[in-house]
Amino acid sequence: MQEQLRKSDTLTVVGELAAGIAHEIRNPMTALKGFIQLLENSIGEQHAMYFHVIKSELQRIESIITEFLILAKPQAVQYQETNLIKTMKDTVELLNAQAMMHNVQFNEYYQSNLSTLYAEPNQLKQVFINIIKNAIEVMPKGGYISISIEETEEQQIHICIKDEGSGIPKDKVKKLGEPFYTTKERGTGLGLMVSFKIIKEHRGTVEVESEVGAGTAFHIYLPKK
Ligand code: ADP
Ligand code: MG
Repeated sequence: MQEQLRKSDTLTVVGELAAGIAHEIRNPMTALKGFIQLLENSIGEQHAMYFHVIKSELQRIESIITEFLILAKPQAVQYQETNLIKTMKDTVELLNAQAMMHNVQFNEYYQSNLSTLYAEPNQLKQVFINIIKNAIEVMPKGGYISISIEETEEQQIHICIKDEGSGIPKDKVKKLGEPFYTTKERGTGLGLMVSFKIIKEHRGTVEVESEVGAGTAFHIYLPKK
């Protein structure tokens, strides 16, 4: 089963919307905080508990908004000539301890003399982390994660991350990358959304190939130029 994901357009809109709403909420929040401070100065002593709750709840709203903004708006992006193999090796090294704890081992194949790519290495690293973490998480009994990077004849770089986990039912593949879609108790359902957005910004595509009970492969294609 193979399915081309066309979520990315919607994702950009969602991201922009989220950033817009976050800003819109921030302005009235500033006014609220100011006036509550004034009120507290005059009648705060009789109602200390109320003011405590109001201020801590306002603080909570502010943290959520801040997190949303970070998510929706990419950090300072620095596109540069990137050695993808190095980026992937760094990622694997970073996740190696977590993989070992789950009895997961990596199989890596990298084409020699791969061209460098004009890309944002930190963002691509984030994508690799998100996908590999998911792969580790679907193999509670351990197994292999196969990672390969090679050039295609169509001037693309093909990155494949394949696991031996539960697989994804066909009707659920469409939901991957939808904000907050998660099947995990403690999942956020944001990892793939962010990842697909980053790949889209690199003018790339993602394909998911999955078979229930056998495993899942994420194929990322990035244009060389
Ligand atoms: P989270 O990991 O927080 O649930 P993600 O966006 O990373 O959020 O993933 C969304 C959902 O996609 C997961 O909850 C899981 O159901 C499914 N998924 C992602 N990767 C895999 C995989 N390698 N194998 C099986 N299911 C996966
Ligand atoms: Mg995840």
